[in-house]
Amino acid sequence: MLSNKKLQSVAQKNHFGIGAFNVYNMESVQSVICAAEAEKSPVIIATTEGAIEYAGHKALANIIKVASEESKVPLSMHLDHGKDLNIIRRCIKLGYSSIMIDASHFEFEKNIRITKKVVDMCHKKGISVEAELGTIGGVEDKVSARKIILTEPEDAKAFVDATGCDTLAVAIGTSHGAYKFAGRSKLDIARLREIKKIVKIPLVLHGASGIPQNIVRKAKRFGAKLGHPHGVSESDTKAAIRNGISKVNIDSDLRLAFDASIRQVIADKPEIFDPRKILGPARSSVCDLIRYKMKLFGSSGKAYLYKRR
Ligand SMILES: [Zn+2]
Repeated sequence: MLSNKKLQSVAQKNHFGIGAFNVYNMESVQSVICAAEAEKSPVIIATTEGAIEYAGHKALANIIKVASEESKVPLSMHLDHGKDLNIIRRCIKLGYSSIMIDASHFEFEKNIRITKKVVDMCHKKGISVEAELGTIGGVEDKVSARKIILTEPEDAKAFVDATGCDTLAVAIGTSHGAYKFAGRSKLDIARLREIKKIVKIPLVLHGASGIPQNIVRKAKRFGAKLGHPHGVSESDTKAAIRNGISKVNIDSDLRLAFDASIRQVIADKPEIFDPRKILGPARSSVCDLIRYKMKLFGSSGKAYLYKRR
């Protein structure tokens, strides 16, 4: 496995983005690997504390490890939004190659203190650390923040210098979850450019699901009650990558694709009760969606830029 620092520095140099896709069970891990293999793309396999709680930490980590051993693509096993130091310690023991410490809800000095502590723990083991500055709004898993506080470029530089973190999640107007915006997304690309100018480490975009409306319509057609979910537009995502983002986090989109597929199979073939015939097509739908994202982010075909793990 590679660290996100390694994965993203190559992406940064070559101007593409790497998708970080959230997993929580065997099928979701297989969807990610299947897509990365088919696209010959580097990939980040992300687990939240919520996913770890759901699947069991050792079980989930081992599914990822086995899948990655059997695969040739450059990849990392990453903790998404780490807040609990005990979970972070367990990640280190279980062989994660990348950790995110999210202390962004604390004030600046405390965020620095906690992040620095995790950087010291992880660097000893060759694990890279993503930190977050500013607040990405919305609700997803155990992460919730009502107010979006955008990242100040000068603060970002001071934060990176003080903590020694390897990559930085910035708040430039995205939001977690499926209900991001009243209408069209609007990212602060000028702010991203300012940050990029003075912060030299690779940058991360959270809350970047696009909420594809064809998938929303499919889920609704088969009974999902979803209201009016909206995501980040593809042109905004591409602009963010062009202007310095090298990791793009995707979670909600994968949930929607999985859900829509299960609803369709159950509606179309009510005689089916073998879970494999219900989950199998959902796994394929998620794989297809991830392949689409890899093309959008420009990471398709970029595995060759990395040496064999
Ligand atoms: Zn996030």
